Amino acid sequence: MESFEKVNSIIMQNLETLNSYVKTIRNKHGNTRLATELPTIEKYASVLDGNYCKFQLRINSLKMYVEVLEKAALEKDQEIMRLKAQKFDEYISGSRVTQPLLRSGITKQRERSYAQAAMASAKTSDIKTNHVVILAPRNADMPTYSDTTFKLFKTSVNHEMLKDSKISIQNKKMSTKARVVLTCASQEQCEALCEAVSDDKWIKAVIPKKKDPQVQILGIDESIPKDDVFKLILAQNKDMEEFAQCKFEANFEKMDRIGTKFVVAEVEPKLFKKLIEIGKVCVGYSSCPVKSRIRVVRCFKCNRFGHLKKNCRNETSCTSCGGNHDAKVCKNPVLKCSNCDWINTKRVQRKQEKVNSEHRADDYGCPQYLRMYKIVENQYNFG
Ligand SMILES: [Zn+2]
Ligand SMILES: [Zn+2]
Ligand SMILES: [Zn+2]
Repeated sequence: MESFEKVNSIIMQNLETLNSYVKTIRNKHGNTRLATELPTIEKYASVLDGNYCKFQLRINSLKMYVEVLEKAALEKDQEIMRLKAQKFDEYISGSRVTQPLLRSGITKQRERSYAQAAMASAKTSDIKTNHVVILAPRNADMPTYSDTTFKLFKTSVNHEMLKDSKISIQNKKMSTKARVVLTCASQEQCEALCEAVSDDKWIKAVIPKKKDPQVQILGIDESIPKDDVFKLILAQNKDMEEFAQCKFEANFEKMDRIGTKFVVAEVEPKLFKKLIEIGKVCVGYSSCPVKSRIRVVRCFKCNRFGHLKKNCRNETSCTSCGGNHDAKVCKNPVLKCSNCDWINTKRVQRKQEKVNSEHRADDYGCPQYLRMYKIVENQYNFG
């Protein structure tokens, strides 16, 4: 645009010169002289006009060129986003699909990509499907500890009962407010435990309610308010009538880098199924991809899961090499995931095979990330 200003200023200067030329003639020589000079002035003006037109044409063609480049950049951006989403989906679905293949030996070692190798180390047994029961005092004012709660639980549910009902308690965690969190092998086992303590005077057992799942709708035109998205989905897509009464809480929206925005909404399982099944919905001026949104919280300071940087009390750990520095200043070319490295110290103690830790801590193929993903996924009710 520098040249635009330059040409513009030359034209303006010339116009000023012409103007002052006309003024001088009128002042010094009167209108008669001006009339004789008119052809010269007209000639001069037409040259200027011609230059200006040429200049406009050049500007227009440059504008078109910029538009073409912008369009190409946008297409590339969308392609990158699509590939990223595809790669991520492959990682996630791979945990279900690739496993049996690897176990039966169909997939050959040399054909294994990093993602598959990561999947292989995240063995199904490592990925806990959480079936939990929370034990708590019936009366919240009761001044008691989780130890007491657990003792009371044992009086209600003795080991004979566990044996007869084939209930396995896989994990026990003492929690705040005198609560105890028990992990069982299945939902049925959790229900059986709840049933067993239903008559207890002192304690109660509850299965935590699962949350409604979230969808992420991408590529929505920026002019569409998030609260109008559902109305548009219902009106602009076929076979949506039966979902009109469903819950659709658009609780978050964000502009993306390509000038559109995405909206995150908490929806009823029935509607979730429908949206994921159709994969794309018309919203306003565009057809928008729909994805399931499962957010694994990872700290940007220490890279561990489950808390945010602002609440972090751990030391800084490099996302790239796992060292005690910020990834921005990292000079170490070796990749090491601090989470997998930490798991490996445990695995060595237990004489278990190590997992691959030669990847960044923010890699979507990281076995620890996938494990967390499963845990978070398990907190939702997908219907
Ligand atoms: Zn942290
Ligand atoms: Zn580093
Ligand atoms: Zn890792």
